[in-house]
Amino acid sequence: MRPEALPSLPAWEPVSGLYILATPIGNLGDITLRALAVLQGAALIACEDTRVTGKLLKHYGIKARLQRLDDHAGPEARARVIDEARHSPVVLVSDAGTPLISDPGYRLVREARAAGVIVTSIPGACAAVSALAIAGLPSDRFLFAGFLPAKDKARLEMLAGLAGTAATLVFYETAPRLEKSLLAIAELWPDREVAVARELTKLHEECRTGTAAALAAHYAAHPPKGEIVLLVGPPSDSEAPLLDTDALLRAALADAGPGKAAGVVAKATGIDRATLYARALELKDA
Ligand code: SAM
Repeated sequence: MRPEALPSLPAWEPVSGLYILATPIGNLGDITLRALAVLQGAALIACEDTRVTGKLLKHYGIKARLQRLDDHAGPEARARVIDEARHSPVVLVSDAGTPLISDPGYRLVREARAAGVIVTSIPGACAAVSALAIAGLPSDRFLFAGFLPAKDKARLEMLAGLAGTAATLVFYETAPRLEKSLLAIAELWPDREVAVARELTKLHEECRTGTAAALAAHYAAHPPKGEIVLLVGPPSDSEAPLLDTDALLRAALADAGPGKAAGVVAKATGIDRATLYARALELKDA
């Protein structure tokens, strides 16, 4: 690929510190001029995967020293990066989007701040924010909850724990798990408005809205591909009680027997397990 000709970059006098820099989430054009100037002037770029970041730099004809610093990096590796940031500009990027948002960097930032190193942000793409911006769901208050767990029990516990949140819920999701997550949401909140934002900024970008049940049916018929943000609108004033134990039990019973279902819901709600077990038996036979 021919390197992109850099537009005239803003003047940037390299200053020491740690720069938390956002990279594109699909469309390589989604990077700011300031981000390119900082990448060009960096003494070191710490990244999740040197191949992924190398590709972005190559696209813009930027040569830089790269060092892998992913979630498995130990305290010594972070300390070396922080030491370098005391006297030179050091950049942290992730594979895509904003570092620390379901990506590594939290410990590094925390330790750099504790060490008195200046930490600054070079903002840009973030899938959660882009999805919220186009979904048409209330955006005045939202809660970003990262990835929904893969296991049915853990997923249900997480959703149940968010039942009372008066805000749009934003999750990262994977294509193979989308339908199951939508079915769990349909059991808990059949009337809420849900949005699936897929492949944002890419060729096949789509944002589909509807009830969770309708979306689950759509994606059962058209298995999704690519990267996904799943959003759930806030409860309406008329929504059934926030802690609808029957809905929780029904969702749990979809994948487990009455005993296990009662255990899952008891853990999520703090309600007595024996009571829930009795109700789970009733619901199962209903
Ligand atoms: N740090 C990134 C950010 O700022 O969005 C997120 C990194 S997280 C490891 C990757 C997840 O973000 C994907 O599995 C998907 O849920 C979401 N994601 C990233 N890029 C996306 C895109 N172009 N469209 C939809 N979702 C995306």
